[in-house]
Amino acid sequence: VAGDGSASPEERADYLRANIREVEDFPSPGILFRDVTPLLKNAASLQVALDLMTEATQAFSPDCIVGIESRGFLFGVPVADRLRIGFVPVRKPGKLPWTVHRQAYGLEYGSDVLELHVDSLEAGSRVVVIDDVLATGGTAHAACQLVERCGAVVAGVVVLVELAGLQGRAKLNVPVTAPLVY
Ligand code: AMP
Repeated sequence: VAGDGSASPEERADYLRANIREVEDFPSPGILFRDVTPLLKNAASLQVALDLMTEATQAFSPDCIVGIESRGFLFGVPVADRLRIGFVPVRKPGKLPWTVHRQAYGLEYGSDVLELHVDSLEAGSRVVVIDDVLATGGTAHAACQLVERCGAVVAGVVVLVELAGLQGRAKLNVPVTAPLVY
């Protein structure tokens, strides 16, 4: 399967699945980590992943992409470029230089804070939030809250991988699209 558009969505998803490495007990005991570095390294699987995420994102007709640090950047920027729209980073605390909105959140392993520049999004604009993996949904939910605090609208969330057993989708009051569901 290559990124030539001829494969079915199921064939493309199976191909991606084969290029995601499962690492037990990382970063802490009991976590099965979905490692996308083999998928990124393989040109064909990278292209298929970006094709599927771009199709999913385009369906929400966004004005802008918001990517979540750090693996959301790896997928969010190329998707934004393919759609000829802009990219805005949601970052870990202390990284953004300008005035920020801050949002605390809980995640599958630990808790953290995310930040977004207060002037990064137009009021009323449509945003798609992108990350690599949706687990408990805490991270994506915090990113959505930050977008809303800027007065923008979350049209949808697009992730490469959804861990359905953790029910992250239920935490988000916006549509979620994931090419790969475990
Ligand atoms: P959550 O807030 O629980 O939805 O966690 C989502 C964030 O943590 C995403 O940014 C993921 O990159 C990362 N993450 C959580 N669980 C996993 C996992 N099992 N494999 C890979 N990344 C994960």
